[in-house]
Amino acid sequence: MNSPDPQLHHSPLGTYQARKKVHPKRIDGPFRRFKWLVMFVTLAIYYGTPWIRWDRGPYAPDQAVLIDLAHRRFYMFSIEIWPHEFYFVAGLLIMAGIGLFLITSMVGRAWCGYTCPQTVWTDLFQHVDRFVDGDRNKRMRLDAAPWTASKIARRLFKWTIYLVIAFWTGGAWIMYFADAPTLVREFWTLEAPFVAYATVFILTMTTFIFGGFMREQVCIYMCPWPRIQTAMMDEKSLTVTYKDWRGEPRGSVKKAEKNPGEFGDCIDCNQCVAVCPTGWDIRKGPDISCITCALCIDACDKVMDDVGRPRGLIDYLTLEDSEGETRGQDHRPTWKKILRPRSVLYFLVWSGIGLGLLFALGTRDHLEIVGAADRNPPYMLMSDGSIRNNYTVKLRNMESRPRQARISIEGLDGALMWSDTMNNADAARSIDLDLPPDATQTVRVYVMAPRGTQPTGFSLGAVSLDEQAESDAVELRFVTPEGN
Ligand code: SF4
Ligand code: SF4
Repeated sequence: MNSPDPQLHHSPLGTYQARKKVHPKRIDGPFRRFKWLVMFVTLAIYYGTPWIRWDRGPYAPDQAVLIDLAHRRFYMFSIEIWPHEFYFVAGLLIMAGIGLFLITSMVGRAWCGYTCPQTVWTDLFQHVDRFVDGDRNKRMRLDAAPWTASKIARRLFKWTIYLVIAFWTGGAWIMYFADAPTLVREFWTLEAPFVAYATVFILTMTTFIFGGFMREQVCIYMCPWPRIQTAMMDEKSLTVTYKDWRGEPRGSVKKAEKNPGEFGDCIDCNQCVAVCPTGWDIRKGPDISCITCALCIDACDKVMDDVGRPRGLIDYLTLEDSEGETRGQDHRPTWKKILRPRSVLYFLVWSGIGLGLLFALGTRDHLEIVGAADRNPPYMLMSDGSIRNNYTVKLRNMESRPRQARISIEGLDGALMWSDTMNNADAARSIDLDLPPDATQTVRVYVMAPRGTQPTGFSLGAVSLDEQAESDAVELRFVTPEGN
């Protein structure tokens, strides 16, 4: 048997490369402050939304945003979506997808850098690291230190904070699916449904692991979005760029002083790498590891200020502008970078869907009628020769209040009707029904036509007996011995 190729055993590139733990350094600057703002707003929206109340009257829940799975409703402020209107939700999801395309075409990977939940929670956990263990150097030293009692205590304390944040995150999620104050009480008195505990457990553990430990690895190895984005980006896309024409060859301030004119502006201080939440060195160029959070711009601008060189060695710009700069060309105006033809196209599609949804929402009726005829028997022949057909009719009252509606026979001359809650002696061309709030009422309707009526189509119209006078109609078939 041949011995394995010794080259393979000594190859510096194994099939698996161990992760280098990232310890980002604290930094201040305009992009860091913007990141603080976005973090505060997104977390406030996530944790706070289920607690916003919205008065819909006594017959509907008063939670502003609620996915009511038990009653199959989705409430968002004054909008209520029924199961048969799922196309609204589909439309919103399509808008969210196109919105990501739109943002990418305008400002590159801004979603990844600022608002993606993985980014926001990782950032939050990194601040916990700083709070408990200190800044980068202290954390690196502690990481390399042996497991003493003090290190174990620190770790347990930090992981407990992680767990509290993760639990709060999972707990906030379930509040979107039930009345938040009620669910909190039921949760702690062990009266909540099992699925609530299971969901909180799963989300607590995923937040704890993804935000606390896996961090940038989720972005680099697990998330499909960076792969899609790289396919969407081109030389006109805004991204964080290191101006190598200005920075290279890099060398310390001392070296540059000794050899004037031989070195570029990069003093090789590695501050841009030290602050990077994914550990990427932007001087190697754009990469899937770079979420374009721009913290390296803050770091490098500070270094440039300190050594008295112009800011912008690392900058937000397009590759095209970066290349133009090397030839001494001016940047294109910012509005031209943002308002590209593809951005305009995405915006038109995005806003078109949005306007279509708004129009459909604004013009939809809150009263609907559907119906189906009994198939067996298709008709009944009465002793006086008249013919009776039976129908199951459903009236949907989408208002959060009780209503009255009148259903009437349209067409089918001489026919009368009554319902299963009436005496047939009260049969008439139209009958009034009480509809419960926010519900579908099912009624059996009997329609009787005189002897000799030929098979024909007719309508059952419904109109609400209130100031809105909303109406709807359903086409039905009247069957006789002569056929359908
Ligand atoms: S922070 Fe600026 S100067 Fe320092 S290494 Fe990075 S690019 Fe060079
Ligand atoms: S390289 Fe710069 S922009 Fe990219 S992730 Fe790191 S700090 Fe953020």
